[in-house]
Amino acid sequence: MKDHKTWQSVSFTDVFSNRKTNRIIGLSFPANSNSLGLEPSVLSVLPQGNNVEYSSRNIDFNDGDVRYYVCSVYISGMEEFRAWASRHDQTKIIVGGYHPSTFPEDFKNLANKIVVGLCDDLFATIFQDGQIVQGIVNNASIPRYDLYDVNNNQQIIPDKKPLDIVTSINTSNGCPCRCDFCCSPILCPTLVSKPIKSVTDEVFVLKQLCPDYLFIRDENFPLQSDWRERLYLISDTGAKLYLFASANLITNEMAACFKRCGVYMVCLGLEDISVEYTKNANLDKAVAILKKYGIYVYLSFIVNPLKIMGVGKGEEFYGKLMKRFEELAPEMVCGNFLMPFRGTKLWDEYYAYVQESDFKEYDSKSAFLVKNPVVRAKMEFFMFWYQYLYYTSDFYNTNVRKFKCNDTLSLRFEELYDEFRPKYERLWNVRA
Ligand code: SF4
Repeated sequence: MKDHKTWQSVSFTDVFSNRKTNRIIGLSFPANSNSLGLEPSVLSVLPQGNNVEYSSRNIDFNDGDVRYYVCSVYISGMEEFRAWASRHDQTKIIVGGYHPSTFPEDFKNLANKIVVGLCDDLFATIFQDGQIVQGIVNNASIPRYDLYDVNNNQQIIPDKKPLDIVTSINTSNGCPCRCDFCCSPILCPTLVSKPIKSVTDEVFVLKQLCPDYLFIRDENFPLQSDWRERLYLISDTGAKLYLFASANLITNEMAACFKRCGVYMVCLGLEDISVEYTKNANLDKAVAILKKYGIYVYLSFIVNPLKIMGVGKGEEFYGKLMKRFEELAPEMVCGNFLMPFRGTKLWDEYYAYVQESDFKEYDSKSAFLVKNPVVRAKMEFFMFWYQYLYYTSDFYNTNVRKFKCNDTLSLRFEELYDEFRPKYERLWNVRA
């Protein structure tokens, strides 16, 4: 049994009194992606002090130099984390993030403290009794951007060139909606806005990074009653902004305000086209309003591989999807395979199809619900292929925008084309 009392007996002075032996190291599992990702969320958890570091690579450390390892673990990083933790002093390991929040018991033999839910006050959180503790949020400080090189950020979005700087901000957490597939309300089931003062302070720091693009990561930004005030503050960065919103909130007045504040793209969830979502009841109208104001539309969609088994069902699904693309003419589309998250309605329906070896495939691009490798590879190819067909179609290039403009979106799709094409040719000669 681990001795949790030792944690409570450590004072703040002790923690900062010896820089060499008191290093606090933040890590992300899986390792932060320098080709697709943004700032890691663990920057919000790391405390102030010059003994604090973030490591973008999950290398091995000398335990004697380290006071705490602060590890953010997502489902797909579980295997990587378990291997890394087995080589380190587990009494120094603190875990948090989505996976420890939903499966805390899986970490009991891997970490000394397991933080459930959101946290931005590390010491107040870990000095609570017990191995599994609720994260404490007090909004007293902003994420440790100083520990991270913003040049490592990359996002696949229209118009952004590879060397453009992109960064992000969260002005709220959580979502009160309960879409059957979504894991966001599990970490934070209500909408919790950060104080305006925190947003002002964070914008001041982000402005120093001279961003060309800035992603407002709130789950549904205009759900906050004071979203206008927040948007005006963020627009002071001068960056092109993009954000998530649900279609049922979009109005003419909102789109006009978005445009004035530099919002260049709004991300709407088309989701699974075979399911009716209340939030999408006026999707067509919302898209038309955004287009009227010259704001790009980003439509993410979900493919449930178990619903499109067989050539006929696959063709029917993608036929309907392409028709919706032509009706809505989004500048960006993004396919994601269904990933059942524990705690969601869909988990109850699909958990029998999920095994622990699937966890590393929770990247939304793997059709892991299908166990036959040939069928699965075909599913993955076709999800890419229909998006590529849309982007390279006469329709898109005549009515939407020119696709090939060396932005990160077109460059990424060319990369994927090169990656998929050989697999596609092989698959054609194999019978599932
Ligand atoms: S999909 Fe969006 S609206 Fe639905 S629960 Fe998730 S964050 Fe909320």
